[in-house]
Amino acid sequence: MIAIQDQTINTRYYSKYIIKDPNTTTDRCRLCKQQIETVDHITSGCTILVNTEYPRRHDNVAKIIHQQLAIKHKLIKQHVPTYKYAPQNVLENEEYKLYWNRTIITDKTTPHNKPDIILTNKKKKLTQLIEISIPNTTNIQKKTGEKIEKYIQLAEKVKDMRHQDKVDIIPIILSTTGVIPYNIHQYSSAIQLHPNVYIQLQKSAIIDTCSITRKFLNTM
Ligand SMILES: [Zn+2]
Repeated sequence: MIAIQDQTINTRYYSKYIIKDPNTTTDRCRLCKQQIETVDHITSGCTILVNTEYPRRHDNVAKIIHQQLAIKHKLIKQHVPTYKYAPQNVLENEEYKLYWNRTIITDKTTPHNKPDIILTNKKKKLTQLIEISIPNTTNIQKKTGEKIEKYIQLAEKVKDMRHQDKVDIIPIILSTTGVIPYNIHQYSSAIQLHPNVYIQLQKSAIIDTCSITRKFLNTM
């Protein structure tokens, strides 16, 4: 992880321009062959990994949050290790409803209609649209704004359609190397996560980023 953070891993960019290895003839990515192979490209920008490795890392973080919410609101009883945890699409009891990866059908076409997690407090008529994102470090601030902008239309629709008093968008953003924005604490307390949950989220993201990078570098 330190090598990834210091950008001193043996990417083609590093090899060609920093250590100037004469055997490295191209700076293009060994997988997609399109973009320059930098650390950021490997950890969050490669189109070949966009449907496999990155979503897996994203879902592992999302599962930690989902399981905590499910236990907190008594929707499930037993805690299991995250790698064994398969979130159910819908969990419901008297007071709460918790959705995983649920598409919300709206009357008109709303471009972004599938938040990662939706939590509804039925008595309070409060719904929270929880969106998780793991961009590279330079994009963490930008991502928060993006997520809110993307889901604002859906939030308004849900408020009307489901007769909610309040619908909030909760972006949980952390970087591929575990860097967190200040507002992660504010957002995680808004959904009543344990104050230390960010440490688990960081650990999960870091482990997956290391594994993605290791696998990538072993691809010749
Ligand atoms: Zn690539």
